[in-house]
Amino acid sequence: MDRVYDLAIIGGGINGCGIARDAAGRGNSVFLCEMNDLASGTSSWSTKLVHGGLRYLEYYEFRLVREALIEREILWQIAPHIIRPLRFVLPHHSGLRPAWLLRLGLFLYDHIGGRHLLPPTRSVDLVHDEVGKPLIANRYTKGFEYSDCFVDDARLVVLTARDAADRGAEIHTRSRAVEIRQADGIWQVTVENVMSGERTTIRSRALVNAGEAVGNTVWGTLYVQALTGERAKIAELHRQLCRLLAAILLPASAIAAAAAPELVDLLLGPKWVDLAFLLRVLLPAWALTVIATQIGAILLAKGGFIIQFWCSAGQSMGRALVVFSAPWTGLAGTMFGIVGVSVLYSAAILYFSRAATGCALLPLLRGFVGPGISSVVAAAACLLTIDSFAASPAVTLSALAVGIISFLISMLIIDRRSLIEDWQAIRRLAAGPDKAAA
Ligand SMILES: Cc1cc2nc3c(=O)[nH]c(=O)nc-3n(C[C@H](O)[C@H](O)[C@H](O)COP(=O)(O)OP(=O)(O)OC[C@H]3O[C@@H](n4cnc5c(N)ncnc54)[C@H](O)[C@@H]3O)c2cc1C
Repeated sequence: MDRVYDLAIIGGGINGCGIARDAAGRGNSVFLCEMNDLASGTSSWSTKLVHGGLRYLEYYEFRLVREALIEREILWQIAPHIIRPLRFVLPHHSGLRPAWLLRLGLFLYDHIGGRHLLPPTRSVDLVHDEVGKPLIANRYTKGFEYSDCFVDDARLVVLTARDAADRGAEIHTRSRAVEIRQADGIWQVTVENVMSGERTTIRSRALVNAGEAVGNTVWGTLYVQALTGERAKIAELHRQLCRLLAAILLPASAIAAAAAPELVDLLLGPKWVDLAFLLRVLLPAWALTVIATQIGAILLAKGGFIIQFWCSAGQSMGRALVVFSAPWTGLAGTMFGIVGVSVLYSAAILYFSRAATGCALLPLLRGFVGPGISSVVAAAACLLTIDSFAASPAVTLSALAVGIISFLISMLIIDRRSLIEDWQAIRRLAAGPDKAAA
């Protein structure tokens, strides 16, 4: 525990091992943990191509394609025993883009940089050329032949890890990162040996999550970290936010209450019928907010404090404005306004999370499939209960209980592991920072 590594990496796929090799080659001390075997994730299920990303030209990602093309030949030179050139034939037909445009794209692919050794693109007459022989006669007459490389992807990962280890990196397989926290600028990563269950905690100055954001616990542990390691900062932010809102809301509420007494009635004394109506409108929005809030926690964990602060402040202000308009817009208008603000807040959090964490949106969202679906199930069960009986305090309370139970059952079925881990994390948090660190 005394040693502090320069870099800890979670995940032994091509990204984790590549980063380990690069960092160790620059003289850094590196620790990498992989919960299964090396390349057990996406890095052994790829289409096994080392390519420049021809299709990205369509999105004008010229720099990306250029860099990938340069890497393509570098990799081929480094590991010619597992990477070899491959020629692709692209038959042209009327459903595709015009032939001249495809040829132009392939011309760019050849000349944008990085292709020195691989043979260039050529136009082919598929009726007479050798490469057209396997095709149905006369169905395709024209086509293009261009270069990319084939790679044995899993071996590339293993060789990269081997080279990283030769340069001093510590590579640990069957070792799952189960907890991450940060104290005094140093990361503490708790790693569990999945064979023996033994846990050790290592320390490092920097941390890379190369564990793929799809359905693993890394984001969950970052969430916990957001609540523990950065607790002081979050508490301070929260205080600032409360002060700011109090400074604006208190005088505004006083004025609003004096000007429109019916507003106080509306907010403080909803009848049970109204409450049932509120729940019906608000619950679906809350289901969405559950996801947005969790993603917001990632934003916090990744250092996006200011963005998170402004998103929350914006949401609070938006809700306040909607509520103050209650006397004129009525109960329904107010509730739908709140839903609208929640939707905007969720969209903002999603957008900024993507920008700040550098994480693709889809994997990020996939990590929340369990809680997301469960929230929707809970909302549906709650609404069904409310709609099935005449409104009364007992029905509304029962509906809430049904919602909570449905959420738990749904989580147990879809995402049991996250539920258990969240529960353990909450217990650790409740135990306090000292016990949590143990
Ligand atoms: C169908 C398909 C085809 C593709 N084709 C190509 C292609 O032809 N060419 C190309 O360049 N790219 C291709 N890609 C993309 C490429 O495969 C991925 O970008 C790449 O494999 C991602 O590597 P990674 O290291 O980020 O993730 P992964 O390979 O998934 O590695 C993540 C590792 O982290 C481990 N892990 C997760 N959580 C923890 C934890 N808590 N503790 C410890 N370890 C953990 C996992 O076990 C896993 O081994 C393709 C992808 C797909 C899906």
